[in-house]
Amino acid sequence: MRSAIWVAAALLLTPGRALAAGGTPRLAARVQCIVVHVLGGPAYDRPERRFRFFDPPRTQSRWKARFGAHWIVWTDGSLWPRHSPSGGPRSWMPDTTRPADEADRRRVAVEAAPVYAHLYNGNSDSVGIELAHSGRAGDPFPAAEVRSLAWLLRALLDLSGGRLTVADIHGHKDLDRRPAYLHASCERPGCSYFVDGQGRALRRRVDPPESLFAALSREGIAVPRPSDGDADLRRAETIAAGERAPVAGPGSLSKR
Ligand SMILES: [Zn+2]
Repeated sequence: MRSAIWVAAALLLTPGRALAAGGTPRLAARVQCIVVHVLGGPAYDRPERRFRFFDPPRTQSRWKARFGAHWIVWTDGSLWPRHSPSGGPRSWMPDTTRPADEADRRRVAVEAAPVYAHLYNGNSDSVGIELAHSGRAGDPFPAAEVRSLAWLLRALLDLSGGRLTVADIHGHKDLDRRPAYLHASCERPGCSYFVDGQGRALRRRVDPPESLFAALSREGIAVPRPSDGDADLRRAETIAAGERAPVAGPGSLSKR
């Protein structure tokens, strides 16, 4: 048990996995895409949690050891890595007035190296970034938060040495198109799922709002986007406050 813990700690903290032979920081070769999330969401079955988010310490304390995104970007622009070196600060503030320097690059490469669970069927080849935000289409992103995200994305693309481009930046909703199933134990065709007022299946993942990509574009990072990327989010927003979403399928009678 002890050695298993040591190995896990070494995998988390050994910077060698994120360094080239000459000591130049680089993005771990496993990383093929960058996935952007927001902390708030529709919480179809828990209206009290709908489109709410909590601060990074509280959020991270609720995550299991290998769960979560590589960073939370807080509303003030501070970066909260999933795991900090023991004894070190829990967060850091990038200087967004300049590109990442050598020390920043080394830090970002190390923090991006581990595999964390943030994406269905896609953790081993991705890194995840959570923005502290409600998830509502109409709620603005603070300028400092967007600047830090843009800075971090630039650092990651740069660390990839040209391997990744803006086309490798995706929203969570782009990569997980599953319906919002009622029970985690039954997630396949034939299982019950949440629906909107017209009985159409709601999506489990609707993050982040397109306004985030628009804000990134204004920062010079133009991620290719579909024309109506918030359609599923807007349907999720039609569920009345304080109400659970309706359910269709075998469990619908007992759950409505
Ligand atoms: Zn997400």
